[in-house]
Amino acid sequence: MGPPGTGKTLLAKATAGEASVPFLSVSGSDFVEMFVGVGPSRVRDLFAQAKTMAPCIIFIDEIDAIGRSRGKGGGMGGNDERENTLNQLLVEMDGFVETGNIVVMAGTNRPDVLDSALLRPGRFDRQIQVDPPDIKGRVEILKVYLPKVKYQEDLELDEVAQRLAALTPGFTGAELANVVNEAALIAARYEKESIDFDDFSGAIDRIIGGLEKKSKVLSLEEKTLVAHHEAGHAVTGWFLKHAAPLLKVSIVPRGSAALGYAQYLPKEQKLHTKEQMIDTMCMMLGGRIAEKIFFDKVSTGAQDDLQKVTRLAYSIVTLYGMNDAIGNRSYPSNNQDGSIQHSRPYSEQTAELVDEEVRAIANAAYERTRVLLTEKKDLMAAIAKLLLEKEVIHKTDVEAILGKRPFDPGMLGNGHNPTSSSERASALDVQPAMIVQDPAPPGATL
Ligand code: ZN
Repeated sequence: MGPPGTGKTLLAKATAGEASVPFLSVSGSDFVEMFVGVGPSRVRDLFAQAKTMAPCIIFIDEIDAIGRSRGKGGGMGGNDERENTLNQLLVEMDGFVETGNIVVMAGTNRPDVLDSALLRPGRFDRQIQVDPPDIKGRVEILKVYLPKVKYQEDLELDEVAQRLAALTPGFTGAELANVVNEAALIAARYEKESIDFDDFSGAIDRIIGGLEKKSKVLSLEEKTLVAHHEAGHAVTGWFLKHAAPLLKVSIVPRGSAALGYAQYLPKEQKLHTKEQMIDTMCMMLGGRIAEKIFFDKVSTGAQDDLQKVTRLAYSIVTLYGMNDAIGNRSYPSNNQDGSIQHSRPYSEQTAELVDEEVRAIANAAYERTRVLLTEKKDLMAAIAKLLLEKEVIHKTDVEAILGKRPFDPGMLGNGHNPTSSSERASALDVQPAMIVQDPAPPGATL
């Protein structure tokens, strides 16, 4: 299990290759049909076929399509068929049916919705978590894909892989393959003989923010506002100890980041402290505060930032028990099966207190950032000026203006690193925002 694109299917295929036995691959959605009885009979057929080929490996991709927990979802008719299919699968995997020498594997990116009966000992009792690769993993993955394309001859494979890996924190294997492919397409579009670094960096931008929007050119006034907004994010993050280190800032309008984005190096860790969450909030607010400081007006461009600030503030108070007034309580906003909870598990009084505390946290973060940015106004102006000139600036450009970041750690991977799967499962699943995108707010006509 793991996020999409991390190579779960490839891993299963590689297992079959190593074991040199037949490999039966089906997708969970293959079993889901409109017609009653088709799903269960397909499961029976699959296992019957496997028995004739044993020893062999069965791989069911997207198992969540049939493996969702039973008895939920309000009986929409189609559910019975899915439950029957799941029941049949459970029967086939059980000890009552002789399935010796057949190994059953499955992949999913939604382990949280699976029926607990599926995960019982004797069924899918071993779970392997496949996470997006760290920097070493990215180098190795890139070394697989890079030789398939033609890049500048004077560059060594190792060097290209290392440089690209440093620029792509949080990317999955599939996205890395896409970077290489996209770079080749860009190079071809400009009729180049080989791919150079501009093409690679264009490909990374493309994957983070979507297609460049050449048609939608911002007016100089809008562009100036966006540049100062992004400069606000960058400067705040630079001077706050617990914020993620900056990698690059762009104000080129793109598909999903219509106003620009800032890319950060996320800490490769699973636990986050309150200090980190607060500093992240400040960084998000930096955009709006910069608009206020320079132009004394606010724009709709900060809508997405504010949404993230609100979500973080609420999770500090109601999810992680990090607020003294509410105490050590955790009220999940979603039910276990992922559906949204409609009733609050606390009183009206508590609800009011929660709102108050959230407001206090957000206001304190705002004030702290405002003081910081007022003090650093000249530096912000310099960053914005450079952004207007170059449109995309990297960490080195920022460093030239702001000086070395006082808190950058020696290198990656020095944090607490949970190893056992149970520890992993219980660790917080909030990822620090790796990319602060500024999409155009709904209804905006920029
Ligand atoms: Zn922003």
